[in-house]
Amino acid sequence: MPELPEVEVIRQGLLPHICGQHLEGVRTSGKALRYPYPALSTLIGKQLVDLQRRAKYLLFRFDNGQVLLWHLGMSGQFHAGCITHPPRRHEHVRLDWSNDCSLRYCDARRFGYLGLSHTSALMQHAWLRHLGPEPLGAAFDADYLFACCRSRRAPIKHVLMDASVVVGVGNIYAAESLFRSGIHPARASNRIAFPRIAALCANIRSVLQEAIAAGGSTIRDFMHIDGRSGYFAHDFRVYGRQEQPCVRCGRTIRRIVQQGRSTCYCPGCQH
Ligand SMILES: [Zn+2]
Repeated sequence: MPELPEVEVIRQGLLPHICGQHLEGVRTSGKALRYPYPALSTLIGKQLVDLQRRAKYLLFRFDNGQVLLWHLGMSGQFHAGCITHPPRRHEHVRLDWSNDCSLRYCDARRFGYLGLSHTSALMQHAWLRHLGPEPLGAAFDADYLFACCRSRRAPIKHVLMDASVVVGVGNIYAAESLFRSGIHPARASNRIAFPRIAALCANIRSVLQEAIAAGGSTIRDFMHIDGRSGYFAHDFRVYGRQEQPCVRCGRTIRRIVQQGRSTCYCPGCQH
C-alpha cells in the first residue's frame, strides 16, 4: 500500500507534467472503484492550478475552485504519458491535458477512490475533516505530540498510527521512528517523558523525509512511476527484521502483534 512518502513522491513527480494545463478529456472504464465516480466531466476545460497532498490524498486544484480528491487505495498507480498511448492494464481513469499529456490511473484491486469538492468546503469533506496534522507540517511538534500522549494510556504505536493524532505514520514508519527513539512500541503513551517524545517527534519527521528523498532520487523516468513498486527506503533498521541481529546492539529483533499489525523492535535498545 502506498504510504505518505510514496504519495508525496508521486505528487512531486506528476506536478511538472500537468500543473498549469487545461483538462481536455476524461474517460473511465465504467468499472466501479471503491466509490462511484464523481462528475469528472464538470472539470473539462478547467485549468489545474496546483497539485497538493493531504495525508494520503492527492488534491487536484482547478481554477474554478473545484478540487479532485484521489486516494490510491491498495494498489493504485498513476502513469503520465502521451495521449496516443494505448490503454494500460487495469486502467480505470484517463485524464487528457492540453499539453498532450495523458494521465492514466491503473488499479488492479480497485480499492482506490476519487471525489469532488469545492475549495471552500474541502476541509469539512468527510474524508478529511477528522484528520490530524501533517507530520512534516509546523503543527506537529513536540508540545503537540506530548499533549496527545499525556491524555492516552494506549501503547505509543497505536497513538502514532491514529490519524486523528497525526496522519501518514503507517506501520513501517511508526516502527522505524520508535526504534530510533529507543521507545518500546507497547509502552503506555502517558508514561513517556517529554524529552523522549521530543526525540520521537523529530525522528518521525526524519524517517519520512529520508523516505521521500530516497524516492525522489529513485525515480528518474516518471513515465514509469507506480505506487506498488515497493518502499523507497530499503535500509529499514527494524521493520521486517525479526530474528535478525539489531544493527545497534546485536540482540535479536523481536516481533509482536498490535491491533492486528506486526511490530518489530529491539528488546535491548527500546524501553
Ligand atoms: Zn538493539
